[in-house]
Amino acid sequence: MSDINPRAQTHAEIREAVRAACAPFDARYWQRIEHEHGYPQEFVQALTRAGWLSALIPEAFGGGGLSLTEASVIMEEINRAGANSGACHAQMYTMGTLLRHGSAEQQQRYLPAIAAGELRLQSFAVTEPVTGTDTTKTRTVAERRGDRYVVNGQKVWISRVQHSDLMLLLARTTPLEQVSTRAHGLSVFLVDLRGAEGRGLRMRPIENMVNHETNELFFEDFEVPAENLIGEEGRGFRYILDGMNAERILIAAECIGDGYWFIDKARRYAGERVVFDRPIGQNQGIQFPIAQAYARVRAADLMRYEGARLFDEGAPCGAEANMAKLLAADASWEAANTCLQTHGGFGFAAEYEVERKFRETRLYQVAPISTNMILSYLGEHVLGLPRSF
Ligand SMILES: Cc1cc2nc3c(=O)[nH]c(=O)nc-3n(C[C@H](O)[C@H](O)[C@H](O)COP(=O)(O)OP(=O)(O)OC[C@H]3O[C@@H](n4cnc5c(N)ncnc54)[C@H](O)[C@@H]3O)c2cc1C
Repeated sequence: MSDINPRAQTHAEIREAVRAACAPFDARYWQRIEHEHGYPQEFVQALTRAGWLSALIPEAFGGGGLSLTEASVIMEEINRAGANSGACHAQMYTMGTLLRHGSAEQQQRYLPAIAAGELRLQSFAVTEPVTGTDTTKTRTVAERRGDRYVVNGQKVWISRVQHSDLMLLLARTTPLEQVSTRAHGLSVFLVDLRGAEGRGLRMRPIENMVNHETNELFFEDFEVPAENLIGEEGRGFRYILDGMNAERILIAAECIGDGYWFIDKARRYAGERVVFDRPIGQNQGIQFPIAQAYARVRAADLMRYEGARLFDEGAPCGAEANMAKLLAADASWEAANTCLQTHGGFGFAAEYEVERKFRETRLYQVAPISTNMILSYLGEHVLGLPRSF
C-alpha cells in the first residue's frame, strides 16, 4: 500500500512521511552495510513499498503521479535523513525513457510492475571504458539479426545491476561512419537482467571509494529480443538526452539534502564541543564557514526549485537544470568539507557518519555528469561561446 496520496500531500507532508520511512535506517544500519560492503536491500524495499520510488510514474500505471518538484523533495529528504539515495535513485527516473518513448505495449508490460515494486528498473548502461564522456563514440554495437539484436561490447561503472531486474542499454546500431551526425545511429534497449549473466553478459563488480554497487559489463553475442528496442532504432541518444533535465534536478535535490545534513551536523557539533573553555562554534573561524556553506546550499536550493518549476510547466529548463546540479554539487561538497573540519579528528571516525557522507557527496562532482560537462553546456548553449568539443 503506497504512502503517496497525490492530491492531498503538501511538501511538508511529503518530507515528514519520507523522513519517517528513512528513520528505521539509522547510522548503525548504514555503518553495518558499509562494513559488509553490502547493498541496503531493506532500505530500498521500504522506500519501494511506500511508493516513493514510483512517484513519477503516472497514476494510470499505478504510480504516485507526482510532479518533478515533489519527486525532488523526496530525494532531498532521503539524503537529508542521512541515507544514501545512490542505492535507489535511478528507480525513480530511469523509467522516464520507457514512459516517454516506449510503445504502449512496453509501458503496459513494465510500468505497473515497476510501480508495484515487483520489477526493478534501476540500471542504465551508457558509460564505456574507452570513450568515457564522449557518448556518441559508443563502441558497444547491437546488430539486428531476425527477431533479435546481438550485442557486443563493454560498459563500465554500471550501477545496481546486481540489484535490478531491468537495465536500459545504449548501443550503436548504425556504424558511426554511416550516419550524417554523430548523435544518430544509437539505440536504447530494455535488457532483462534476470538470467542474463552467463548468456553473453558478464559482470565484474568494481570496488570503489563509496559503498556503491557498480560494475564492468562485458557483452559477447548477448541477445536482446527486437521487441525490447525502445522507440525508433537510431534515435537513442536523443532519448537519453530527453531524460537528463529531470535527472539533473533530482540529483541537485540529493546534493541539497546532503548539504543540509552536513550543516545541521556541523552546527550541532560546533555548539556542543567545548575546547579552550568555549564551544568551538563561538569561534568565527568555525562559525563563518558553516554560515557560508548554509548560504550556498540555500542559493542552490532556489535554482533547484526554479528548474523543477519550469520542468513541471513543460517549459525549457536545460540551463536551470544544469545550473541547479552544478551549484548544488558544489554547495554540498563545500558543506561536507566544512562539516569535516568542524569535527576535527572525529570527522574521520566512521561512527560520526561524516566521512561516509563526505565520500558519497564527492561523487556528485563526477557522476552522473561531471562538472566540466555542465560548464561546457552553459558556455556553449546558454552563453553562445564556441563549441569546445
Ligand atoms: C560510482 C559511479 C557510478 C556510476 N554509475 C553509472 C551508471 O550507472 N551508468 C553509467 O552509464 N555510468 C555511470 N557512471 C559513470 C559516470 O557517469 C562517468 O564516470 C562520468 O560521466 C565521467 O566519465 P568518465 O569517467 O569516462 O570520465 P572521462 O570522460 O574519462 O573524463 C575524465 C575527466 O576529464 C573531463 N573531461 C573529459 N573531456 C573533457 C572536455 N572536452 N573538456 C573538459 N573536461 C573534460 C571529465 O569531465 C572528467 O572530469 C558512474 C561512475 C561512478 C564513479
